[in-house]
Amino acid sequence: MDYRLTDEQSLIAETVREFAETRVRPFVREWDEAQSFPAELFAEMGELGLMGVMIPEEYGGVGLGPLELSTVMEELGRVDPSVALAVAAHNGLCVGHIAVGANEEQKQRYFPKLATGEWVGCWGLTEPQAGSDAAGTQTRAEWNEERNGWILNGAKTFNTNGARAHVAVVLAVTTPGLGTKGISAFIVEAGTPGYRVGRKEDKLGMRASDTVELILEDCFVPAENLLGERDLGFVDALKVLDRGRISIGALSVGIAQGALEAALEYAQERHQFGRPIASFEAIRAKLARMAAGTRTARDMVYRAARLRADDKPFKLEASMGKLFASEVGMFVAEEAVQIFGGYGYVKDYPVEKFFRDAKLCTIGEGTSEVQRLVISRQLLAS
Ligand SMILES: Cc1cc2nc3c(=O)[nH]c(=O)nc-3n(C[C@H](O)[C@H](O)[C@H](O)COP(=O)(O)OP(=O)(O)OC[C@H]3O[C@@H](n4cnc5c(N)ncnc54)[C@H](O)[C@@H]3O)c2cc1C
Repeated sequence: MDYRLTDEQSLIAETVREFAETRVRPFVREWDEAQSFPAELFAEMGELGLMGVMIPEEYGGVGLGPLELSTVMEELGRVDPSVALAVAAHNGLCVGHIAVGANEEQKQRYFPKLATGEWVGCWGLTEPQAGSDAAGTQTRAEWNEERNGWILNGAKTFNTNGARAHVAVVLAVTTPGLGTKGISAFIVEAGTPGYRVGRKEDKLGMRASDTVELILEDCFVPAENLLGERDLGFVDALKVLDRGRISIGALSVGIAQGALEAALEYAQERHQFGRPIASFEAIRAKLARMAAGTRTARDMVYRAARLRADDKPFKLEASMGKLFASEVGMFVAEEAVQIFGGYGYVKDYPVEKFFRDAKLCTIGEGTSEVQRLVISRQLLAS
């Protein structure tokens, strides 16, 4: 299978790399410390097409595919994984769920503004009692005949982009007692009475990407904002997650690449015992393992993206790619810190941030343990 970049994909990679180097890299530390990046960055990324990578051109997007989205994720992740996470949640989760479930009117209403970055999207599946196990979802949506809509009550935790999202896709129980077979998805617009942003998490890494609680209190959502079929919201969410895992895998590859590049440069500059530390066998072996892991992770993630682009089954490869790449991201970032020695432990160099950021990729969109469950179920067909 050939999943190397075409000329067009290479051009996208170059464009995003330049954007990341000039518009993001100079501010990485500042944004990490501020736990935020300027909202205007979304609009700038929208102008470049990064907010609507897979939204069809007829709705204002750039109409590209999963390989190109992976390239975007990798290039942003190589410089600032937080910005990449925000773009992943917007494109992969919010836009991704709308793409899976929306009718024509919903696409026309939401895609054009989401594609330009005028509107930012978030996605709420996780709840305090429902993390890996969505069957524990407690947010309720009750039909109100008189008002011709749904009344939502509950809370969603860990919503990436939630603090400034204009559009949230949230999952809520519509038929109690059926577990994941009684959950539906709804599009909720910011400003809807009863919808509000709660606590913002103070995180280990990915700090510039906001992660908040979303609270729904007697929040009325009109009938036309049901996304997809009633009670099939979680079935659609699984499709969204399968696709999203390719993005998180690609983001992890970007983290590994960024940490590897920093370590390569530092190992050649830093002298101890009268020579560059890169001349020591122990450091060379680390660099070799880091490079081989990064390359293999990239191959696995792009393989999943290629399968998806070709409309072939990709669930197994997406989970394998996400599992492997996220753990490689962690490994490479940790080894990079080690190569930097004490300087790896302080904020003057980028590797401590890669180390903190990488951890999220082994947790979000299905933990490593959940990926192993998905993979083994695919292998054993049960
Ligand atoms: C920064 C950040 C951003 C996020 N963004 C979003 C978002 O935008 N939208 C959203 O909906 N969610 C988001 N999440 C939530 C994320 O997807 C969940 O944290 C994740 O799915 C795990 O759920 P949990 O935290 O409740 O852990 P739990 O499910 O409680 O898991 C705890 C531990 O138990 C393990 N475990 C659980 N079940 C099993 C099992 N069956 N077998 C073996 N081990 C198991 C897990 O692997 C983990 O190690 C985000 C989380 C973070 C930290």
